[in-house]
Amino acid sequence: MASAFAHAVVAAAGYAAVRQDYMKGTVLALGIFCAVMPDLDVIAFSFGIPYEHMLGHRGATHSLLFGVFWGVLLAGIVHGRLPASQRRMIALFYIGCTISHGIVDAFTTGGRGIGFLIPFTDERYFAPWRYIKVSSIHWERFFSDHGLRVLQNELWTVMLPAVVLSLLVIVLRRLLRQPRV
Ligand SMILES: [Zn+2]
Repeated sequence: MASAFAHAVVAAAGYAAVRQDYMKGTVLALGIFCAVMPDLDVIAFSFGIPYEHMLGHRGATHSLLFGVFWGVLLAGIVHGRLPASQRRMIALFYIGCTISHGIVDAFTTGGRGIGFLIPFTDERYFAPWRYIKVSSIHWERFFSDHGLRVLQNELWTVMLPAVVLSLLVIVLRRLLRQPRV
């Protein structure tokens, strides 16, 4: 796994890039939650479910299908009163945040691959290049030199690229919005 901080920054950068007037602070908070929550699957270890199982770590909650299902469900429950077009955009944002988790994880240097295509296949996938230092599953290890090294690495490999990409999209959106003369 990458650290929760890295996943949160990716969601926040995504929010800044795609933000619309109707996307309030709740949408940002829930987007961050979506980007972090797939790792709740570590609870599977306490139930004796092995890593490589579909319900194991980096399994079902990291899959594309789960991202779509979760994003649509969350937007439907929380933003049910918004017009359908706005709800659709928010659902897309939540889907993007949830799926971003597995994508970031796929670039990490440790653990097993990501079950992107669960339940269709239990195959695990990694990105062709892996340069994000993997964060420990054990949270107590995170508050040590190991955690600091992971954060330093993520600053350059995840957070900074996410912020730069977000700024580029913001500038592009501004330019496209400018009235033509
Ligand atoms: Zn993960």
